[in-house]
Amino acid sequence: MTGTKDREYIDLRSDTVTRPTRAMRRAMSEADVGDDVFGDDPTVIRLQQTAAETLQTEAALFLPSGTQSNLCALLSHCQRGEEYIVGQTAHTYRMEAGGAAVMGSIQPQPLNFEPDGTLDLDLVAANIKPDDPHFAISRLLCLENTQNGKVLPMDYLADARRFADGHGLKLHLDGARVFNAAVELDVPVWEISRHFDSVSVCLSKGLCAPVGSVLCGSGEFIRTAHRWRKMLGGGMRQAGVLASACILALTEQVDHLKRDHMNAAVLAEHLGSIDGLEIRYDGNQTNMIFAAVETGLLPTLMKEMKTRGVLIHGFGDTVRLVTHHDFNADQIDLVVDAFKKFFQSPQQSAAG
Ligand SMILES: *Cc1c(COP(=O)(O)O)cnc(C)c1O
Repeated sequence: MTGTKDREYIDLRSDTVTRPTRAMRRAMSEADVGDDVFGDDPTVIRLQQTAAETLQTEAALFLPSGTQSNLCALLSHCQRGEEYIVGQTAHTYRMEAGGAAVMGSIQPQPLNFEPDGTLDLDLVAANIKPDDPHFAISRLLCLENTQNGKVLPMDYLADARRFADGHGLKLHLDGARVFNAAVELDVPVWEISRHFDSVSVCLSKGLCAPVGSVLCGSGEFIRTAHRWRKMLGGGMRQAGVLASACILALTEQVDHLKRDHMNAAVLAEHLGSIDGLEIRYDGNQTNMIFAAVETGLLPTLMKEMKTRGVLIHGFGDTVRLVTHHDFNADQIDLVVDAFKKFFQSPQQSAAG
């Protein structure tokens, strides 16, 4: 539920709307803190160790957001005039204000994602630039897992690693929701992270922390990223207050993601019977449901659903519903009813 003074809403806009758990609030109020810019905040140190152990990397770095974490990674892997190969709709390319180009003069080479969220490695190969002064230097391949809620297959990750090694590319994972992928595949997250040179993980989405991401990689990589973080204004002082919640995100919240995926599957099934909503919830989906609606209908739908107590998000003619910790199975019927009422009501045709 998302509360305002006036009203409580069922909020399916994103898993970022999750509130810190009671345990997190308690941990935050009691957190041991220092000054993390001096490197002596014990709770930040503990978070970074926990993240590195969990993903089985040499080191990890705490950052205020996934955007800054991805940017630090790109800046650490690529020099000015180098390029990274990335999905056309990938968050790093599309949703981060072009930071890699602005801050690093790093050229993106966007390619269309395959329907399963992978990048076709033959297509990537065809887009790696030859060593020739006409071209930028291809340096990095960036994948996303989950990609729009879709889990990348494990054998694809192994292929991507071999591919990157074969072509002298580094491999970064925007793993904002990598724990959703791990839980869905029922593997420890290090089985995913071990294929990458660096992984960025959001703790403030389905894992409920109020703020925070971790970037994981080798010791040398993290030392480089640390300098970029400082330059980008991400050096925080008594950051242990936040890190204490982030530790619980890693240690207490991961298993809850299973329930979010189950709720999404049930919700998708129930919504599937509604005329007017064309549900897309494929086998490798996790906590996101997409539904195509009639052209131009989305703004009316969003407004009407809000009056019925349900917040939804969308773009173009597609609705996106995201299940998360603060959405319960007993709210599924309420959401389905709200959609049903909308599509049965005459207002719907007025949107035309
Ligand atoms: C949310 C998200 C990010 C960025 O995280 P912020 O903390 O919102 O900056 C990066 N990549 C993906 C795939 C995301 O969903």
